[in-house]
Amino acid sequence: MLDHERVSAKLAKFRPSLTLALKTLVGERESKGLPVYDFGLGETKGDLHPKIAAAGADAFTRGQTMYADPGGLPELRREVLRWLGQESHYGPHNVVITTGAKQALFNVFLAVCNPADCVLFDAAPWVSYQPLAVGAYAFPVMVLPLARSASRLKITPADLERNLDARPHTRLFLLNNPVNPTAQLYDADEVEGLLRVCVQRRVYFVLDRLYWRLVFDGNRFPEPRIDEHTRPWLIQIDGLSKNFRRTGGLRIGWSVAPDDVTKAMVNLQSHYTSGPAVPTQQAALAAIDHVYNDDLVRELEAKRDLLVEHSRALPHVDIWETPATFYSFWDVTGCFGKRTPAGDTIATSDDVAAYLIREAGVVTASGQAFMQDGYLRLSFATSDRDIVEGMKGARKALGQLT
Ligand code: PLP
Repeated sequence: MLDHERVSAKLAKFRPSLTLALKTLVGERESKGLPVYDFGLGETKGDLHPKIAAAGADAFTRGQTMYADPGGLPELRREVLRWLGQESHYGPHNVVITTGAKQALFNVFLAVCNPADCVLFDAAPWVSYQPLAVGAYAFPVMVLPLARSASRLKITPADLERNLDARPHTRLFLLNNPVNPTAQLYDADEVEGLLRVCVQRRVYFVLDRLYWRLVFDGNRFPEPRIDEHTRPWLIQIDGLSKNFRRTGGLRIGWSVAPDDVTKAMVNLQSHYTSGPAVPTQQAALAAIDHVYNDDLVRELEAKRDLLVEHSRALPHVDIWETPATFYSFWDVTGCFGKRTPAGDTIATSDDVAAYLIREAGVVTASGQAFMQDGYLRLSFATSDRDIVEGMKGARKALGQLT
């Protein structure tokens, strides 16, 4: 047996998760004593709320470590609906608690797709959508707008319809709103337009709303319409990882879905995880069972403003506005064809990202990981000092391109 045949052809093609690769790169530079301004990782910092920590610790102390309902703790499933303001539309039997939002997404692909069914993603899909879909033997396709930069990579109902016409075996359309990586926010009309197409075409509308609390400038997250027409086709994915401080590693997510799809996912989960760890579910319950503290939103909004101030008129890049999330999205096609002081020619987003790390210690995420060459994503969920110093370094490095 050849070495490359020792794992399945499907998994042999997977690249490791980009975010984890960045973590390694950051560690390497730090071990050499070089300054690093880390805009790479999509994770909030700060302290874990003491209530969340205490609930997890208490669950261990009280021995809440036995097998539980594979769909999740009933009280957490109930609380998720209150957190989303959807108690009047759904019951706990519509909720599945998962090991992060990632597993909720994987559950959906596994539950609704037959082999080779097509799944449609929006124009800048988050890094793991494709591997998760392929892992479920589905066929992922990106829906592209006709004019990329002008539309800020947002797609319209007409874009979606064009793709549905071309691919009759489509099972679902997955929209991430607010969008990681572009930081754009589809408004209520835009969401409704896409949802309506899905309902008409009897295709699932999967809404990944993981950043839904992190909406700035006094705006609110546009909730999807939930009624008897949309409910059979609407699946929502959410979780603990982004809207709180330091909760990504708790690995708790959830889905809210129609009865039949939820039943299939709980059944599946009963065979492969038996549900997430009970103490972390208790920690999640402590996070969402009180009024949401929007300190984090205000702090991130201030960081967004700081980054805007210090990145004004950076050479060769076009920085998009950030109405939500904690990402700044840069169109770096203006760097393409330019030469670095070392004499290399920049040809791709990966080249720009590598140049910024090498020259200025500025760590970003290259658009190539999001299947969109020509862009960089920067996470500003970092220290104010890193934002100011990092932008100073980026300005100098970009200014040296000729
Ligand atoms: N969906 C989006 C858009 C994300 O950005 C992420 C994580 O970065 C996930 C899903 C997965 O979330 P989790 O860490 O809860 O598995």
